[in-house]
Amino acid sequence: MPEQDADGLIVAHYGVAVGVRTETGETVKVRVRRRSGHVVGDRVIVREGVLERLPRRSELRRLDNNGEVRLVASNLDVLGIVIAPLPLSAESFLDRAIVTARATGMEPFLVLNKSDLEGSDELAAEMSTRYGDLMPLFPVSAVDGIGLDALIGFFAEGRRGAFVGTTGVGKSSIMNVLCPDIDLAVGEINEVTGLGRHTTTVSTLHSLPGGGELIDTPGFRDFGLAEIEPAELGGWFPGFESVVAEGCRFRNCLHRSEPGCGLTAAVGSGAVPETRRASYLRILEELEEHQARLPRRKD
Ligand code: GDP
Ligand code: ZN
Repeated sequence: MPEQDADGLIVAHYGVAVGVRTETGETVKVRVRRRSGHVVGDRVIVREGVLERLPRRSELRRLDNNGEVRLVASNLDVLGIVIAPLPLSAESFLDRAIVTARATGMEPFLVLNKSDLEGSDELAAEMSTRYGDLMPLFPVSAVDGIGLDALIGFFAEGRRGAFVGTTGVGKSSIMNVLCPDIDLAVGEINEVTGLGRHTTTVSTLHSLPGGGELIDTPGFRDFGLAEIEPAELGGWFPGFESVVAEGCRFRNCLHRSEPGCGLTAAVGSGAVPETRRASYLRILEELEEHQARLPRRKD
């Protein structure tokens, strides 16, 4: 009997096959070419064993070990950036994650884990000064269970998301408590290779018991910023909203030292802290370096 057409969602990727969850709730395995381009989160139509991909609303990309940009998952609504009093994450790391989320169609939010530890109140205060009006902040403790209801409620409103963050902040621990069927190894990341006990690099999508979905992205090392134009960075950078709204003399201003630059004025008046400009300039340089390394387009 021929297979019937079915709408589905890719919930797992096995290299030469993907797991497609169909409307009836069952998951079927469908063979794909090795570089099919399908990722977890893709909505597909299965037609006689062949997948037709529907348009994506967002794309989560990372840089692999060779500095190449790879697609990890698609159609995420939110990107949870996990931080902790220990280990602390660099300011530019957080900004890079926020910029990436915004530029690729995801709403960023912050999860302050290990709020059972000393220094978490200070970190929470610092984060709300820097990002407070711009995105939700959930102080939690995966170990003590503090604050988890609010985070569960956020997903339960129907959001699909993934967590990113510096190794050791507690991403696996949080995923384990939110989603009991995941069972990730905690604290076993090898600092040299960056690989945990689970050395698979496949992403998987999990439905949370209370609603919402979580995509597990093992091996997620860094963000692919490649497709942001340097002149667009200011528009995505957290805290530069009013600067961008008021504008600069030049429309393609990079907010470095151009005359009539709104950022220079805002830093001068104290409206934007110098540290925020420093973080912006650092990411701008990375973007420009990355662009310089891209192969020239052949016309
Ligand atoms: P990941 O690298 O971000 O996935 O972090 P893990 O989930 O592997 O956690 C790293 C370490 O932090 C482990 O030793 C965990 O037990 C610990 N940890 C995770 N969550 C908490 C928390 O809420 N409080 C405290 N004190 N420790 C935590
Ligand atoms: Zn400017």
